[in-house]
Amino acid sequence: MTFLFNSDAARGAVFAKAFAAELPELPFSMDAAGVDPDAVRYLITWTIPDNLARYRNLEIVFSIGAGVDQFTMTALPDHVKVVRMVEDGIVRMMQEYATLAVLSLHRQMPAYRAQQAACIWRALPQPQAAQRRVGVLGLGVLGRAVLERLKPFGFPLAGWSRSQRLIDGVTCHHGADGLDTMLAGTDILIVLLPLTPDTRGFLDADLLAKLPRGAALVHTGRGPQLNHAALLDALDNAQLSAAVVDVTDPEPLPADHPFWTHPNILLTPHIASVTQPESAAQAVIDNLRRHFAGLDPVGLVDRRRGY
Ligand code: NAP
Repeated sequence: MTFLFNSDAARGAVFAKAFAAELPELPFSMDAAGVDPDAVRYLITWTIPDNLARYRNLEIVFSIGAGVDQFTMTALPDHVKVVRMVEDGIVRMMQEYATLAVLSLHRQMPAYRAQQAACIWRALPQPQAAQRRVGVLGLGVLGRAVLERLKPFGFPLAGWSRSQRLIDGVTCHHGADGLDTMLAGTDILIVLLPLTPDTRGFLDADLLAKLPRGAALVHTGRGPQLNHAALLDALDNAQLSAAVVDVTDPEPLPADHPFWTHPNILLTPHIASVTQPESAAQAVIDNLRRHFAGLDPVGLVDRRRGY
């Protein structure tokens, strides 16, 4: 029985050390070419390797990242469990990024940056937090954690998910009907949805038009969810005032893409949140212990839903 690590060597060294300390009875390998394929029961990887079929006794594929949209699910036999990365480092970094983005937008940093470039010293009227409604698309691990971190600022908070959720201090909406209601009452929209067939292209002109005029977007889901032309149109006709964009399609963007230079887009290179090897190794070890005890791992993906 072997755990195969198929990702970068630096992270692998951290995993190897943690496995040796905490699960010494489970052989750990970073050598995909040298390992006995029949021994591989557990695999951690970013993408599904082309030669996956050789691991005939595979039980679990762990994603090294929070999403599993990069996995070709059809390449996996039905009985193989797929587990996304749920670990404290990813959660904390997403809380930081979303808070930074919301506060920057709330305190009008894009406008002040433009004023600075033009040597203008002028205070803009400043709405208070209680007047700035923040809504989150996706109430999973990350959406809920972000809302929790935003609570002390006093923004009216709302969220939207597929199924009904109850979160203290957050107005929760769900399903198609709930979406329009939430959008109409959202000044800063944060996207934390997984990429699935249902959410591909989801952030389109129709959706952006349902936000109040002058609203802002924080896109931290996945690049293919956002229609770039729709965002540019919405910014250029003032339907939206600004956007913080961490994920794009493709990544990186070509050098002539308008997002690079748009005055009202703050663009970051998919760094909102990154798997932290120490806490990720611990999360995987904890999940293996759950598995050995007959429990489902945390972050088990419903392969039918795709997240
Ligand atoms: P999660 O725990 O699986 O939660 C996903 C949430 O989205 C759930 O609330 C789910 O609804 C909702 N949802 C999914 N499909 C939906 C649909 N069609 N309509 C309405 N709601 C839908 O995921 P997570 O851990 O919070 O992560 C969310 C996403 O963040 C990841 O998949 C990834 O794309 C992105 N991410 C980005 C970065 C970055 O650096 N930019 C880093 C990490 C993650 P239910 O509650 O009803 O199931």
